[in-house]
Amino acid sequence: MRLLEIIDSWSLQYSERIAHVSADAALTYRQLTSQSNQLAQYLSATLPHDRAPIAILGHKQSEMLIGFLGCIKAGHPYIPLDASLPAQRIEAIVRTAGATLFTVDELKAAAQTPLSENFKIQPPEDDDAWYIIFTSGSTGIPKGVTITRHNLENFIEWILAEQKFKAADEVFLNQAPFSFDLSVMDLYSSLATGGTLFSLTKEEVTEPKKLYAALAKSQLTVWVSTPSFARLCLMDSSFNADLLPRVRKFWFCGETLTPEIAASLLERFPQAEIWNTYGPTEATVATTSIQITRDVIEKYRPLPVGKAKPGTRVEIHAADGRPSPSGERGEIVIAGENVSVGYFNQAELSSKVFFQIDAQRAYHTGDWGHTQDGLIFFDGRMDFQIKLNGYRIEIGDIEANLHALANVQDAVVLLTLKNERADHLTAFVILKNQASQNDFELMRAMKRQLGERLPDYMLPRKFVFLTEFPTTPNGKVDRKKLAESLS
Ligand code: AMP
Repeated sequence: MRLLEIIDSWSLQYSERIAHVSADAALTYRQLTSQSNQLAQYLSATLPHDRAPIAILGHKQSEMLIGFLGCIKAGHPYIPLDASLPAQRIEAIVRTAGATLFTVDELKAAAQTPLSENFKIQPPEDDDAWYIIFTSGSTGIPKGVTITRHNLENFIEWILAEQKFKAADEVFLNQAPFSFDLSVMDLYSSLATGGTLFSLTKEEVTEPKKLYAALAKSQLTVWVSTPSFARLCLMDSSFNADLLPRVRKFWFCGETLTPEIAASLLERFPQAEIWNTYGPTEATVATTSIQITRDVIEKYRPLPVGKAKPGTRVEIHAADGRPSPSGERGEIVIAGENVSVGYFNQAELSSKVFFQIDAQRAYHTGDWGHTQDGLIFFDGRMDFQIKLNGYRIEIGDIEANLHALANVQDAVVLLTLKNERADHLTAFVILKNQASQNDFELMRAMKRQLGERLPDYMLPRKFVFLTEFPTTPNGKVDRKKLAESLS
């Protein structure tokens, strides 16, 4: 597959077709191709030809897409960074990656220079990085998953074959910020099929009135989001086929899809299919899939995540690293061409989770799973990685950043469930010096300080100040006791 050529071909075939819509602004395929070429020319002229990553800071503006393709055409992988990230987090990512940072406004200006006659695109080779997506790291420093051109094209080839999108006809929902790999699913499905990517801004996602006004205008045919976002939408009875008459597919990834969400969607959108897909960023967005029909909902609880994509092996490994028999719980391991080449500039970390099976790249997901009837089921995490409102978070990341605050001696963070669903985070903190403020003032001050280091979605809602932590017989913090103290 030649993804870049396919994307550019739409500018000849359907030059005025809309490639991207965001906050009422639209970008045509003609503009996407010409402006990304112009940007690539600028980047080639200004940066060394060393394939070093370029970080792009923005939100849902069309310049993000121009930026991504401009970087690729200039021979550089890109790192998408959402504008909601705090400055310290951005700095840590840019430092780890040795990247050059551009804001969307800077890119906009750079994409205006007319193209010279001898400009040539420098497309990545198969094993060159296409993008690097940073995800929460348990030590407090985010880790950058390197996805090569081959990884991405391998993923796209699979979904195009499986989902059979109509060329130049689909409108894809883009809910996730571009800094999360769920957005790769909608972005490149859309660009590869001459579709329209319909982005929701943060404002639209958080303000129901704006959200429904945007959806009503959207003409969406393919819904792509986390199940959490669909659950939120389902709370409003007007979220139905009258609002989205063209929608014919709900495509989920990233966290557990509950039978309740799937059943409600089938009821409200009788003309639409529901798909559950599973996979970590480290294996390019998604690795397994299944259509969730009424029969599947009736037969399985929890719902299955499906079967592995062709050419990729998904195995359940016992503690000794050998495949477990069907029905037995073990670690989900993925081996195949969609597995990342590793964390960018973090060889030691990479060697802990990336390995080889039969000369194929493989990844320890850290997910519990089992198989039944030839289907794969996700059974939770083996470690302290969680999903909260669809966001991937390492509890250790929050704890490390709490430890880094001046007056914190020790900190433990717990996820609190409500009706068996991840609800919020609680931080238990031991201070170095007793503060003169009351607990409420302390909590506010600590949230503010932590907010300078971590994105909002990682901030604990509650803080409990203690003078010591309960311990287990072997001297570790007793997290169970701490959790019990909340109930
Ligand atoms: P991310 O890298 O943000 O996509 O997060 C990957 C992790 O999300 C996986 O390792 C799983 O723990 C979880 N996950 C992804 N897809 C699903 C799914 N369909 N059902 C349940 N958990 C999922």
